[in-house]
Amino acid sequence: MVTPALFEAFPTVDEMAKATAEDIYPYIKSISYPNAKAKHLAQMAEKIVAEFDSNVPTSIDELTTLPGVGRKTANVMLAVAFGGQAMPVDTHVFRVSHRIGLVPKRCTTPLSVERELVKYFPEEILSKAHHWLILHGRYTCMARNPKCSECGLTDVCKYFNSKVQ
Ligand code: SF4
Repeated sequence: MVTPALFEAFPTVDEMAKATAEDIYPYIKSISYPNAKAKHLAQMAEKIVAEFDSNVPTSIDELTTLPGVGRKTANVMLAVAFGGQAMPVDTHVFRVSHRIGLVPKRCTTPLSVERELVKYFPEEILSKAHHWLILHGRYTCMARNPKCSECGLTDVCKYFNSKVQ
């Protein structure tokens, strides 16, 4: 919702690199953590111009050097913006993977869940599978009240089967 006005004000990374966090803030003030994100956007644009010839880098290692970009965001860029195969682990993917039993209990970090999931999904459907898990977590297997009675995974779900036994 905020990007049309944001990108109209700063249509290129070079334009954004000239802006300060204070210039960017009004365009993103309605989203979460706007102060930190405005700062990161200004610093990120500066770095992309200075170190990457004004092109957003395409590898995880390079993306994660940008201010405000962690592994999840870098993976989302790979999977969505660059059309590659990646498994970004957000809160939904993390919860649903544990509940269904796709990953063992010892996977207590997003990175360990990602490493486990990529072993089992064929690479060519990894990005699709990421969206399946997110949508399942958002609309069916919610954090507080999972809709088990409407879920098609009851036969294989570890959480569901541990409750009915
Ligand atoms: S059966 Fe329930 S806990 Fe298991 S995946 Fe479905 S909604 Fe989630």
